[in-house]
Amino acid sequence: MKQDPTDLADQFRKEIEGEVRFDKYSKILYSTDASVWQIEPIGVVIPRHKQDVAAIGRVAARHKVPILPRGGATSLSGQTVGNAVHIDFAKYMHSVIELNTEEQWVRVQPGVIQDHLNDYLRPHGFGLGPDTSSSSRATLGGMVGNNSAGSHSIVHGKMIDHVMEVKTVLSDGSEAVFGPVNEGGLDSLRRGDSLENRLYREALGIGEIYRDEILARFPKLIRRVSGYNLDELVRNNGHYGAGYSSRPGPFNLARLLVGSEGTLAVISEAKIRIVPLPKRKALLLVHFRSLLEAVESVEEILRFEPAAAELMDDFNLKQAFAKPEFAEQMGYVDRAANALMVVEFYGVTEPEVASKLDRLKVHLEKKRIGFSYLPVVDPVQQANIWNTRKMALGLLMSVSGDKKPIAFVEDPAVPIAKMPAFLRGFQEILETHDAHGGYYGHASVGCLHVRPMINLKKASEVEKMGSILDEVSALVGEYGGSMSGEHGDGIARGKYNKHLFGAEIYGAFKRVKALFDPENIMNPGKVVDAPEPTESLRWGADYQTIQIDTKLNFEREGGLARAIENCNGMGVCRKRDVGTMCPSYHATLDEEHSTRGRANALRAALSGRLPAAELTSKRMYDVLDLCLECKGCKRECPTNVDMAKIKYEFL
Ligand SMILES: Cc1cc2nc3c(=O)[nH]c(=O)nc-3n(C[C@H](O)[C@H](O)[C@H](O)COP(=O)(O)OP(=O)(O)OC[C@H]3O[C@@H](n4cnc5c(N)ncnc54)[C@H](O)[C@@H]3O)c2cc1C
Ligand code: SF4
Repeated sequence: MKQDPTDLADQFRKEIEGEVRFDKYSKILYSTDASVWQIEPIGVVIPRHKQDVAAIGRVAARHKVPILPRGGATSLSGQTVGNAVHIDFAKYMHSVIELNTEEQWVRVQPGVIQDHLNDYLRPHGFGLGPDTSSSSRATLGGMVGNNSAGSHSIVHGKMIDHVMEVKTVLSDGSEAVFGPVNEGGLDSLRRGDSLENRLYREALGIGEIYRDEILARFPKLIRRVSGYNLDELVRNNGHYGAGYSSRPGPFNLARLLVGSEGTLAVISEAKIRIVPLPKRKALLLVHFRSLLEAVESVEEILRFEPAAAELMDDFNLKQAFAKPEFAEQMGYVDRAANALMVVEFYGVTEPEVASKLDRLKVHLEKKRIGFSYLPVVDPVQQANIWNTRKMALGLLMSVSGDKKPIAFVEDPAVPIAKMPAFLRGFQEILETHDAHGGYYGHASVGCLHVRPMINLKKASEVEKMGSILDEVSALVGEYGGSMSGEHGDGIARGKYNKHLFGAEIYGAFKRVKALFDPENIMNPGKVVDAPEPTESLRWGADYQTIQIDTKLNFEREGGLARAIENCNGMGVCRKRDVGTMCPSYHATLDEEHSTRGRANALRAALSGRLPAAELTSKRMYDVLDLCLECKGCKRECPTNVDMAKIKYEFL
């Protein structure tokens, strides 16, 4: 960027009502998401309304400065980190604008949090289809950006199946609304010289030119979120969409933007389809002697048309049993199990769901699939079980020491029939590299979350991470899968799109990127032209922290630095409705006043990203000042970050 950052900040200040922060601390605070990558932004802008978003787009276009939209920054693949001006939608732009229950849609600002939207919709008998485990702080903008999905995607699909229309700011600073367009509408939209007109003209052309290759090369999976959704540009039986990863419909460029990770346009408003809530729900917990047996059972379980089939392995179960707050909720689980499948059924009446549970139970017993089957109809117990499943990742991350189960090959999806062979292949790769990991995931749709144990502070382990990525991508290709089933490409997997989709389709991805963003200012380096995933790591072989003689005893945590490093960025401290953590964030909705923000600032000072003198500076004092020392984080953070204790030490 040739632009002087101070001038640039002034330009933004002149044109927006929201906040503009280009100071070093703000850059540190926005340099991470929930992934293992870290890159300092150019600065941060916090829009108050869609006029601000349009103005941000105009300034960025005028100065050719990269921008990166951001919601809760709970992404696991590094797509929300980058050297760009970050646009924080979560602080001010979190309103529901309009609800239409008759037509079943809602219009939202991008910073609306999933759980908040569901709380708003529940009294009307509706909910959002995709349900991520990060629902307490993930935003609708981020869900659209990542094409997020959840436990019930076998019924509700992914975000692409729910996004009806988006209001956007394009890379030239112009604004455009993308929604369903009929053939007559397409004819007129194709004509003209605006960027919007060009997008219609050339996107349709790309769909025609690459049609055969797209139909041949795109993985035939519900859970394909890697790459751009070129399959949406393909005309097929009177509709648009190949029908592999979404339901075909009228031509709609909004569906190409879904999952594009902020690389094609910035969304300032979205119209989202909502779904009626099920009247009754019930669970069957199926226990297995091995993970492989559980995975082998999926096809059989799916014959009974469940609404969800979610997997947890022994690593997850052991971590949950080791934590008193979860062990209490897990009293129902047979401790002899090495894997657990949570199978959910929807229905209208209680007898109906009870009979669905019973039919599956009898069938599995007869076929000797699994060994213990627990029907759960009580709503409180069901909620506890879902809570434990939702916390699976947090539970995995709570292992102590520098070797952590990290996210980089954590999200592959393959056809259900190929899951057992794929799992065996995956396990072999990890065994070869002596990198045992934890497994969980959305078994009903072939999406496995696997987190190998890696110590990113060692060069040899970083190299190992690169080798595992190469080998897993080859395995995914062999089984016709997708490197990402919901978390996105980001820095972790962008590199592999060429290999997985082939050179021709990758060329088409690059054409799409160049069409939407010829100056490469929209979250550059994601989806196409991605950097090496072994670079720009939050830790890494060069990572070192200064030694501090602490007054308090941090032996249990492995020292003060490790106590701070326990924060992995998953952002549970940004939740707002349940529990205590984090009251200062609740009050200001400012990253700086969250447990995660404080941990990031302190880690920066301990590891040299900020001068060590900052540890005793007034600015660091400000970061910690609003912390009420309530210990909410110690109790509620899945990795038990104890910011109150860290603050006592600081003071
Ligand atoms: C513990 C944990 C559990 C998770 N479970 C799931 C799960 O079950 N299912 C799942 O799908 N994911 C899951 N995730 C990943 C992540 O939480 C989801 O993808 C989530 O929807 C991201 O929302 P966010 O607001 O944090 O997005 P961010 O991380 O802030 O952004 C995500 C992407 O969208 C882009 N973006 C954000 N706002 C806009 C906008 N206004 N316009 C254009 N682009 C935008 C960003 O640039 C970025 O590329 C999990 C993550 C964690 C840490
Ligand atoms: S102790 Fe501080 S950081 Fe932790 S939840 Fe309470 S206010 Fe937030």
